[in-house]
Amino acid sequence: MKLKYNVDSILTRRRKKIMNPSFDFRLVLFEKIKIEGTDVISFRFNQELDKLEVNKTPSLFEYTAGQYAYFNLDDVHGDPNDSTRHFTISSSPAENFIMLSTKIRDSPYKQRLSNLEEGDKIDVSAPEGEFILPADYSKPLIFLSGGIGVTPFRSMLNYATEKQLPLKIIMFDSNKNQQNILFKKEFDDWTALNENMKIVYTLSDDKSEGNNNFGTEEEWNGEKGRIDKKMILKHVDTNTLNEAIFYICGPPDMLKSMQSLLEKELEIPKDRIKIEEFTGY
Ligand SMILES: Cc1cc2nc3c(=O)[nH]c(=O)nc-3n(C[C@H](O)[C@H](O)[C@H](O)COP(=O)(O)OP(=O)(O)OC[C@H]3O[C@@H](n4cnc5c(N)ncnc54)[C@H](O)[C@@H]3O)c2cc1C
Repeated sequence: MKLKYNVDSILTRRRKKIMNPSFDFRLVLFEKIKIEGTDVISFRFNQELDKLEVNKTPSLFEYTAGQYAYFNLDDVHGDPNDSTRHFTISSSPAENFIMLSTKIRDSPYKQRLSNLEEGDKIDVSAPEGEFILPADYSKPLIFLSGGIGVTPFRSMLNYATEKQLPLKIIMFDSNKNQQNILFKKEFDDWTALNENMKIVYTLSDDKSEGNNNFGTEEEWNGEKGRIDKKMILKHVDTNTLNEAIFYICGPPDMLKSMQSLLEKELEIPKDRIKIEEFTGY
């Protein structure tokens, strides 16, 4: 299986598609969850599709953990990027709801999204994407996550835990400060249930020694600074490093620096690196 994606060709394909995606599904919102201390909201939709849209037959929205879809809203006015965005489905197929999680900013699309209310509907394309768990569980996985790029990892971590997959996963989760660590309570609960899973949190705001400017007064026992070679070698043994498949997800800058870290400093071959880039950040 070919694991490495050519970033340019993926982005080109997405840009082409977003101009004319086909919205075959309609989901109904049942809950909005604002993640305290952040500008992120999770939107939870019923897994059952809106009945009217599927010949009055209830049917489920099905996807693979880690995939994304295009979400189209009515009544978006004056948005230079129109009324559609792609979002990872941050829930997993082991959960009984469909979730997307996003930073609310001032684009007309995001403002309309944040104003959705319980019972409101959103049109969705068929899920797609290859940033998913491998079929073969023999190789360990190392996830490198930056900020909101954690959404596909939430999906895959939940699925691996709920299905008790015999799959070793180490995730490095980089965020600005403690308040910005998304889904931490859930991740800690799942780590307690899943002995194959380990999460290394790091705060990137300021790595100078003696500076406590990490956005909280709580004591921090995790890592500080950006994910780098030293941090990876501290938490990953040589055997794991030599076998693992690396997954990187986050904003474009983070993605570039992680790709360089893996390929140049750690000499990981391209065919063991999978990338999902969040355009728009
Ligand atoms: C596969 C995939 C999965 C994704 N999953 C998620 C996810 O789970 N969660 C999530 O939050 N996002 C996700 N994204 C990103 C998402 O699709 C949006 O691009 C992002 O949320 C930004 O949307 P926005 O409406 O806030 O910004 P937009 O208005 O779409 O802005 C997009 C870009 O255009 C620039 N821009 C906007 N307006 C102007 C202007 N007037 N002049 C110049 N530049 C401008 C912005 O600075 C930004 O760089 C994903 C993207 C991809 C490709």
